[in-house]
Amino acid sequence: MTKTAIRTARPVTRLVRGQPTSDGAGVKLTRVIGGPALPQSDPFLLLDEFGSDDPDAYIAGFPDHPHRGFETVTYMLEGRMRHRDNKGHEGVLDSGGIQWMTAGRGIVHSEMPEQSSGRMRGFQLWVNLPARDKMRAPRYQELAADRIPEVEPAAGVRAKVIAGRFAGIEGAVSEIAVAPLYVDLRLEAGRAYDADVPLGHTAFVYVFEGSTTLGGQSVRRGTLALLGEGDSVRLEAGAEGAALLLIAGKPLGEPVARYGPFVMNTRAEIEQAFADYQAGRL
Ligand code: FE
Repeated sequence: MTKTAIRTARPVTRLVRGQPTSDGAGVKLTRVIGGPALPQSDPFLLLDEFGSDDPDAYIAGFPDHPHRGFETVTYMLEGRMRHRDNKGHEGVLDSGGIQWMTAGRGIVHSEMPEQSSGRMRGFQLWVNLPARDKMRAPRYQELAADRIPEVEPAAGVRAKVIAGRFAGIEGAVSEIAVAPLYVDLRLEAGRAYDADVPLGHTAFVYVFEGSTTLGGQSVRRGTLALLGEGDSVRLEAGAEGAALLLIAGKPLGEPVARYGPFVMNTRAEIEQAFADYQAGRL
């Protein structure tokens, strides 16, 4: 891997605390992107963290609902979720697994817990599609935990590379329009690491355990740090260590027309999506 001698560390431009909300049939979750505080960060439309030991918080799941015009990325830390769509695709997402679903022109699916007790925990990220791909055929990339490459780029630092190239490793998910980086990073207490982040891409860090110092600011669990321009980010774990998502993607710079589960470029395309859904054409 070629590295230039001088790297520019990205500063933190904004800190956003996740907000408690519920979605689906009443699943309790924390909305980090997609709420009033941060409606979107091109190309990212939504980031939810879900996690509970209490089945009442997740058992109702996400019964049949449509999607068109973007991608949903589900990363399970713990638990089991069954997915089923109207095209006959079905599968179970298990602890440590990832599902990168390109909804394209449309699917109707359900996402339901495959457990009635115990802990369920994970994330769902929505990634926008460029206009040219919004009506493409749906596609899934589903990878169990053992198919996600892991690397130890420095002592006390472990990375699961879900998408993109990181520390010389090619991620599990490929051929996504926004050339995303999606890494689950774990740092032991007191460890520091300079992570490469592609120049010009929208990038953020979401801390889900412990805390980390970024550009002189302490970022604790449940907080997203939006990053400014640069080609790296310096992470320093706090006293309890840190677990975080490092996510980046190429901004699309296109108009976003959004209504619920449909994300298009114009209002007319949203109306068409509703008409197609109601007529059973998704
Ligand atoms: Fe969905």
